[in-house]
Amino acid sequence: MPEQPGKNAIEVRGVRKVFGTAENQVAALDAVSVSIRENEFFTLLGPSGCGKTTLLRLIAGFDFPSAGEILLHGQDIAPLPPFRRPVNTVFQSYALFPHMTVAENIGFGLEMLGKPKAEIEARVAQMLKLVKMEALKARRTSQISGGQQQRVALARALAPQPKVLLLDEPLSALDYKLRKEMQIELKRLQHETGITFIFVTHDQEEALTMSDRIAVMSAGKILQVGAPRDIYDRPAERFVADFIGETNFLAGTVVSKKPGVAMVKFASNATIAAGYPDGFEPSGEVTLVVRPEHADLVPDPAKGTIAGTLSNIVYFGTDTHYHVKLDGGENFIVRHQNSRSSPVTYETGAKVGIQFEEDAARVLKD
Ligand code: ATP
Repeated sequence: MPEQPGKNAIEVRGVRKVFGTAENQVAALDAVSVSIRENEFFTLLGPSGCGKTTLLRLIAGFDFPSAGEILLHGQDIAPLPPFRRPVNTVFQSYALFPHMTVAENIGFGLEMLGKPKAEIEARVAQMLKLVKMEALKARRTSQISGGQQQRVALARALAPQPKVLLLDEPLSALDYKLRKEMQIELKRLQHETGITFIFVTHDQEEALTMSDRIAVMSAGKILQVGAPRDIYDRPAERFVADFIGETNFLAGTVVSKKPGVAMVKFASNATIAAGYPDGFEPSGEVTLVVRPEHADLVPDPAKGTIAGTLSNIVYFGTDTHYHVKLDGGENFIVRHQNSRSSPVTYETGAKVGIQFEEDAARVLKD
């Protein structure tokens, strides 16, 4: 299980990667250390330019670290050229050969490795079945759809049975519906093959729904590694909370503290209890984060923790977003799931109170 410490497939130790000239250097990766377990669906998540692709390229062997090392099952892989590493890559562009058939594309890597013909045929048949492309095996890849091309690219990368499969934004060229289907399909493939997947995306929803664990990256660093729930419910830093999901930020002052819980006072004079991450000691002026669905609206401001006025109500079908202008001046969003028997209806301009679920509010490092 992802939460159990398993054996490591990949260990990245203190890796730094610098591009550019001595006068104009860019550290694409800076002191990056992370362990990726065997049989894990591991995602590198972060905004454009944070270093995700660079890290994949170093693992694949297309480029070399400026410092640090990368181990595969405990062995330093620095001396191994890409084709000697038990690692394969699926690119965003698929990079299929358009003049070859689906089956020829899937068998290509095995041909290059000089595998016997019978073994290649058996393996190609197995891969066609795995990605459900048997019916189209004789088609040229220029004559199949984008989603089908994606399946062929996956089958081709999986055919040589790599220990680790690297996937660089493989779903970004697909339309929304197909993308959702392929997310489920990829998860199934990872589960059935037992191969470690390292998946790169800048899409937080994709990362949350597919991954066993996620590494959140920003500006060449890994900020937090954890299971989707950990990252979402217990973000370690403000950037992580902001990048993943919607978040309310409130400025306050720490007035007292006990282990794991700080009492924080707001401009509106309300004081609430907020948790904080291990290894961080909040004090003085702090920012508090609360997810919109972890807060409740109450019609009587006096019964809420923080008072405000409803400035906007946005209906989304499954849920409704209530925009509240707090008496202290800040904006706050509360998200309620809609049900056919919602007991209270609110109107814009109404005075309301906001309450938090227990453990909902957290003080984070800026
Ligand atoms: P995206 O999601 O846009 O692909 P990314 O997170 O994968 O972004 P990288 O492609 O790894 O980011 O790039 C990280 C940083 O390193 C960026 O600032 C980028 O401009 C820089 N960089 C990457 N490759 C090179 C290169 N070959 N030469 C110079 N700078 C580079």
